[in-house]
Parts: sequence; structure tokens; C-alpha cells
Amino acid sequence: MMWWRSEPFDFGGAAGQAHLKVRGLSAGYGPFLVLRGVSFEVKPGLTVILGPNGAGKTTLLRAINGLIPRQGEVLLDGEELPEKTHEIVRDGLALVAEGRQLFPQMSVLENLELGGWLVPKAERQARIEQVLNDFPKLRERQQQLAGTMSGGEQQMVAVARAMVSRPRLLMLDEPSLGLAPRMVDELLGIARRIADAGTTVLMVEQNVKKALAVADRGYVLERGALVASGPAKLLARSTVIREAYLGAASSDTTSSAEAARRTREVA
Ligand code: ATP
Repeated sequence: MMWWRSEPFDFGGAAGQAHLKVRGLSAGYGPFLVLRGVSFEVKPGLTVILGPNGAGKTTLLRAINGLIPRQGEVLLDGEELPEKTHEIVRDGLALVAEGRQLFPQMSVLENLELGGWLVPKAERQARIEQVLNDFPKLRERQQQLAGTMSGGEQQMVAVARAMVSRPRLLMLDEPSLGLAPRMVDELLGIARRIADAGTTVLMVEQNVKKALAVADRGYVLERGALVASGPAKLLARSTVIREAYLGAASSDTTSSAEAARRTREVA
């Protein structure tokens, strides 16, 4: 059995066509600025952010999600996102962080229930039922303690839990990290299906080839600045990707002027 049902996903008419616009986003840790005036757009569909280790990809998702302070504009469907994480969740944004952050001593079902903590119980049950329809293997495993599942299985639970909140925008931070190749394919397939079902997906991935094979668009982040963007199919063939993939720019002294010069639309 696959992790997902063969029919298209149906997250209960989750969302529609959410559009994220980020303008001049700066964020970091204390005095250490990681992102310096990043601007980009996430259109409906599946967008992937690529880049070498330490480029600031996780920081970017954390800043959008309100987990760290930020400067600049973050607009979801034209409206400024609040800066408090619980308000952001209510506003329709969900983040599946690296490391999944499940509660290991709780069952799969209890973890899913936490994904619906902001909605009334009856509604929450209906949403969980919907998610269990879309992820039939999780229905089989609903009483299993999350901590006893494999890494890939836990990642499925984390994605399913995020979908219980019926986000308009789902952000995934390296969902395939540490997983076996078959599980990577399943995870990326799920991201694609979620996007096809109407939830806009923004995904950070190290698995460059596979991520670009399922994504609609991609961005390359280096040293806290975006240096390339374009349709996934074209990015996959670009030299910029090879540089980012090999981490070439992380060992030199790319200045922001240099980064700006190199910023280009691969089209
Ligand atoms: P990776 O692919 O390795 O996860 P990344 O592109 O996601 O990398 P970030 O995790 O965003 O990169 O890190 C960007 C920079 O911010 C790095 O130099 C990192 O050391 C630093 N950093 C990350 N988290 C913190 C923190 N909590 N406190 C201080 N510095 C941090």
C-alpha cells in the first residue's frame, strides 16, 4: 500500500489558490543577520527553495512563520501576516519543521488532534477523518506511538498533522532529510499532490534533482540572498544549480553586490 490514496487528495476544500509575497525580508539571530532584504513570490502550486548548507533556508521559513523576529513585508493573499505564530496558523499557514517535532509518547491520532487545536472538536474530528482517508496507512497505525515509527513514517504523520489545520500555505523544511530513496519519492509525491489539491506549497529541499522534478518553480538561496529563480524544469538544467548543489559559493566571499549581479531569472 502506498502512503496516500490513489484518487486525488481532498482536504475538504482547504484553500484555493494562496499567493505569498515577501518583500525586503531581513531576519537573523540576535546581532547576526542571516537574511538581507529577500524578496520573492510563491504562486499557487509547488515552489522549492534550494541552496547550500547555512544559506538561510530554514531561517527564511522560520521568519515567515513568526518563529523569529523579522523586518520587511510578508503578505498572504495581499494581507500582512501577523507576527505571532498561533495567529499565523489561524491565518492559514502551516510549517512542518526539520526534525518533525512530533510528540513521541503520544499516538498518531493524538498527534493529528494537535494539528487541529485551534478548531472546535467536531470540526477537528471531521478533518482528521479526511486526512486519514488521504493517508490510509496512518489509519492503520493511528494507535501506534509516534516515537516508535520509522523516520519516514514520522514525516508522514508530521505532514498529515499540518494538513489537519487546513492551511492555505504549507511550508515543508527538508521533508526528505535522512529518508531512504523510496520514502523520499513518496514524500515528494505527497507534496505534489497537496499542491494539486489546492494548497500552495513552499518546500526547502537538499535533494535538488528530485525536488526540481516535482516542483513548478524554484529559487536558489546563497548566503542569505536569492541568486536565481525560474521554472523548475529550466533551473534543473542551469549552471547556477550545479554551483548551489556543490556549495561552491559558500566557500568564497560572495558580496551582496556580487549576489545581486548574479541574481537572474532563468527563463
Ligand atoms: P541547512 O541546509 O544546513 O539546514 P539552511 O540554509 O537552512 O542550512 P539556516 O539553518 O537558516 O541555513 O542557517 C543560516 C545561518 O544561521 C547559519 O550560519 C546558522 O549557523 C545560523 N543559525 C541558525 N540557527 C541559529 C540560531 N538559533 N542561533 C544563531 N545562529 C543560527
